[in-house]
Amino acid sequence: MLELRDIHTYYGHIHALKGVSLEVMQGEIIALIGGNGAGKTTTLRTISGMQKPRSGTLHYLGKDIAGVRPDTIMMQGMSHVPEGRRIFGQLTVRENLEIGAYTVSDRSLIDQRIQEGFEFFPRLKEREKQLGGTLSGGEQQMLAIARALMVAPKLLLLDEPSMGLSPLFVETIFDIVERLNRERGTTILLVEQNASMALGIAKRAYVLQTGEIRLQGPAAEIASNESVRKAYLGED
Ligand code: ATP
Repeated sequence: MLELRDIHTYYGHIHALKGVSLEVMQGEIIALIGGNGAGKTTTLRTISGMQKPRSGTLHYLGKDIAGVRPDTIMMQGMSHVPEGRRIFGQLTVRENLEIGAYTVSDRSLIDQRIQEGFEFFPRLKEREKQLGGTLSGGEQQMLAIARALMVAPKLLLLDEPSMGLSPLFVETIFDIVERLNRERGTTILLVEQNASMALGIAKRAYVLQTGEIRLQGPAAEIASNESVRKAYLGED
């Protein structure tokens, strides 16, 4: 479904991705883990078109999407939930969802997707008219995910969905990610600092370090790798 081959991305002179290759197959949950500044966010931004790679190939659903605009990529069924959620605090929950559908022109389809979103996230339905900024962190994360689902993505990119959430909400968000994958068949590329939770729901995983993929394999194998356990799972 998605294939990166030898992707190099720069911010000016900063060489953030140094030849990243990875693959996501339809129906998978893939975890991308790594420490601060490893390039996880840059990888997602490169895939969704927000950052243009300087070299390498980037294929999505058989098409070359390197350098293609983010909204065009979105219309091909890819949605990105950015780090820090970026919901609109001064708009209501429903208005935030409507903005997520800005590439959808069919009004009845938008209403239908909002209803589906509320069925999936009953807590958002209860807060439909509340301003985004007044929601709790976990609810804002739900809203950010629900907003990304307004385009009915085939592939969902999730950047640190558990960041800053209480343990209970972390569980809730990971349950949601698993349900999306199981019930809707959404393919998910999940970036997480919470490596143990991410490896718990992923099928396969990649470990990124200073812009390079250092390890890859089945999630259970990565979770039992000694260097991963020391570096990312908090073991001595
Ligand atoms: P974190 O978990 O801390 O967000 P990350 O793995 O997502 O880290 P990136 O945010 O992708 O890492 O950053 C990769 C590298 O690129 C880092 O060295 C970072 O300082 C640099 N970088 C990221 N964004 C920019 C930017 N807008 N301008 C310049 N350098 C940047």
